Amino acid sequence: MTPLYIRVHLSDNTGIVVEPEGLKPGAFDDTGFTAHEAIPQSHKVALRPIQKGETVLRYGQVIGYANRPIETGFWIREDSLDTPPPPSLDDLPISTAVPASLPPLEGVTFEGFQNSDGSVGTRNILGITTTVQCVAPTVDYAVRRIKTEILPRFPDVEDVVAITHGYGCGVAIDAPGAAIPIRTLKHISTHPNLSGRPLVVSLGCEKLQPRRLFSSALPVLEDRNLIRLQDEYGFAESVAAIMRAAEIRLEELDRRRRTTCSAAHLSVGLQCGGSDAFSGVTCNPAVGFAADLLVRAGATVFFSEVTEVRDAIHLLTPRAINQKVGRALIAEMKWYDNYLANGGADRSANPTPGNKRGGLSNIVEKALGSIAKAGSSAIAGVTTHGERIKEKGLVFAATPASDFICGTQQLVSMNLHVFTTGEGSPYGLALVPVVKVSSRTALAEKWHDLIDIDAGRIATGKATIEQVGWELFRFILDVASGRKKTWTEHWGLHNALVPFNPGPVT
Ligand code: CA
Repeated sequence: MTPLYIRVHLSDNTGIVVEPEGLKPGAFDDTGFTAHEAIPQSHKVALRPIQKGETVLRYGQVIGYANRPIETGFWIREDSLDTPPPPSLDDLPISTAVPASLPPLEGVTFEGFQNSDGSVGTRNILGITTTVQCVAPTVDYAVRRIKTEILPRFPDVEDVVAITHGYGCGVAIDAPGAAIPIRTLKHISTHPNLSGRPLVVSLGCEKLQPRRLFSSALPVLEDRNLIRLQDEYGFAESVAAIMRAAEIRLEELDRRRRTTCSAAHLSVGLQCGGSDAFSGVTCNPAVGFAADLLVRAGATVFFSEVTEVRDAIHLLTPRAINQKVGRALIAEMKWYDNYLANGGADRSANPTPGNKRGGLSNIVEKALGSIAKAGSSAIAGVTTHGERIKEKGLVFAATPASDFICGTQQLVSMNLHVFTTGEGSPYGLALVPVVKVSSRTALAEKWHDLIDIDAGRIATGKATIEQVGWELFRFILDVASGRKKTWTEHWGLHNALVPFNPGPVT
């Protein structure tokens, strides 16, 4: 029998309604529980009488204080909870509960494209980098012609992608914040799925000059890899120059072949978007289980989204592998606190109307569910905005939580993306496969041609966290090897790249 609700932790005085149609007044189970009003699916029901001022517990953690009495069997509405203050960043325990290493999974491999810089791609794509938005429509035009006129002759290249974005000029390029979008674009341009070598289209007069973008990788910018539109004679010749350069690169890319590579070359970025109250009990724990498997196989797996980690930071700093990593984690939280404060944003800025419709009352509840993606391994490293991850194992890579900005920034380090969703999002990226995991079966059924893995089976008792975790792990290896494609790849859903720019626009 499907349970009426899920209680995550024994101490919780709340349950999450499982029934797709919601709880009806009078619904009861064999524990003596009876519902006293209609409560929608994925919203919270009181399992004990809760007094005014008493803590409301989920995951064994305080998600709020009741601002009115709530009787057993009644709906715990968003407005009946006061949000607790965020954990102080000044006296957090660091490295006090470092998880022991799990037994390694030996010999896990995938079929990947090895690059001369030592990186390994999961796809074989020609990417054309742009230094500034001004050239984007010209490059888009050239890419359309390359795909119809040239690409068919190179069947082992999977796609041609214009790496366009809103950055590059009209910005304070020397301001401290500018370093973030610049290094983000640099690393995306040398992505493993693009063979690690950029092909660049510049305008000529823009602030983000190619030399600034690739200051540490100048040898790759010999003439044939760089086209300046202001040096060309008119539009047709500009397009022809891009097409000639693309053809040379396509010939090289077409010779690439997949070879068997250690799973240590996988780097999987984890993100959630359109979360609901189920996310923290179904898809995110299943992803966390798969994350532990990836760590055991020697891979890199990373979670991000500072504002969705901030309120659960006291549960993460004890897992830092050493003091340095713990302090780096706290420094990323402080940086973002200041960033939000300077923008006049408060903590109510994060949960979306969809999150709240899905039963998430506030950022504390959202964060506690979000960090389940990070599994149970020690946190082996922390990487700041736009930098490429160097460590293996579980890493925190700081990014905003905004789906497309986080995804853009995670591209710096990932060759495969796992995205969990409760409300549903058709989000996808051009440069890496995006594996979609749903929190509810109803979403997986409604969006049967968008969701790759249904973790909602965990709520209804049809599968365990371990079973879905293993299923996801095997699917990741199949997708990384090109044996399977994700739905977003099937449909070609490519969100715009949106580099995070905390610097001033002029
Ligand atoms: Ca997100």
